[in-house]
Amino acid sequence: MSKTIVFKFGGASVKDAKSIENLFNILFNRLRNRTLIVISAMGKTTNGLEEILRLKLNGDLTSSNSAKIKDFHLGICREIFPPESMIFSIIENLFMQMDRDLDKPLTQENYDAYYDQIVSYGELLSSRILQEYLCFKGIFCIWQDAREIISTNSNYRFVEVDWDKTKNLCLKHLGSKLEQYPVVTQGFIGADPKGKTTTLGREGSDFTAAILAFCLNAQSVTIWKDVDGVRNADPKRFPDTVKFEELDYREAAELAFYGASVIHPKTIKPLANLSIPLYVKSFLSPEAVGTKICQVSEPMHIPCTVVKDNQILVSFRVTDFTFIAESHIHRVYEVLKKLKLKVNMLQVSAISISIVIDMEMFALDQLISTLQNDFSVKYNDALQLITVKNQNADLVEALLKGKEALLEQVTRSTFQFVHKP
Ligand code: ASP
Repeated sequence: MSKTIVFKFGGASVKDAKSIENLFNILFNRLRNRTLIVISAMGKTTNGLEEILRLKLNGDLTSSNSAKIKDFHLGICREIFPPESMIFSIIENLFMQMDRDLDKPLTQENYDAYYDQIVSYGELLSSRILQEYLCFKGIFCIWQDAREIISTNSNYRFVEVDWDKTKNLCLKHLGSKLEQYPVVTQGFIGADPKGKTTTLGREGSDFTAAILAFCLNAQSVTIWKDVDGVRNADPKRFPDTVKFEELDYREAAELAFYGASVIHPKTIKPLANLSIPLYVKSFLSPEAVGTKICQVSEPMHIPCTVVKDNQILVSFRVTDFTFIAESHIHRVYEVLKKLKLKVNMLQVSAISISIVIDMEMFALDQLISTLQNDFSVKYNDALQLITVKNQNADLVEALLKGKEALLEQVTRSTFQFVHKP
């Protein structure tokens, strides 16, 4: 029996009618047995849904924003489906459900759970549209609700996957379906033991593809992007970048951890565990080679630069003439954990602890108010974190030129600094 191949298509690959037609051609040219398609929300839909939540939390009206998202989806469908297609009532239905969900009260306390219920509509819409379109164009395929196969805990927005349960569900729900037809499912979403929708974190559809590939012991995963593979820096920010033909799992995982947006950080581990290769390819030139992420016997250790925007540098200073001890670090980490904040950089000096974290709604205020009795707290926001892996002196000097580093850190293989861009 042949193994499953997993294709993941991101938001940019379904951002308009032309992109969806292009996606159809990519699939049509690669049709084979046991193909699983994981799809993200269309274009910038997830950002739009997040904006609805922000408005609602502020007590503002959300109806015109949700109408805009609906029109965006209907507009695309009008271009690619005949007027009598079922898809129009499917979309109406999903928006009716979403509006009903949005009638419920939203507070800071229920924000995470509420977020998962609303933001998941992006993938529910895109996957329905894609499945209908593929069928309409003659690729008969099955729609699979990801919430039936991806089981998570209830730590909304920051869930952990229940791997054993997910594996059993994948075998139960996907095993025989994949034998017969390609299956289309949603990236990014899952369900907790109560059946409530959960999400895997922004850009989490890559992770979905990896979870499913692991559970099905797939042959390969291909992530289709608007870039031609993984490069040693973002070509939109830096000239003369180098594309990797092959990249070791470990190097790829580190780059993703530091913020290389080309792959979600959690994607690599499940694939590396089963030696499943991950291909990163361009949907704009599907025949081009792209990058293969796999076990590389002698990784090249090429210098790589990763830039992360929207960072906050927070410093906690002891106020009582003592020095920083383990108990202080423990206290800060305890609160960070409670607030579900990930530290991108940490530095400890005699009298202060400095951390760099992503900008998260409410989190900064809560962090400061919780710790202001223990420390004197200062912060700088809207910063940029630059990480260089496999650094060399020339590159570091060039990156620092004209910038004032607010915090700097060097290890044997990595150089990092934050600055105000
Ligand atoms: N739609 C989600 C996001 O924009 C997940 C994904 O695209 O991977 O973050």
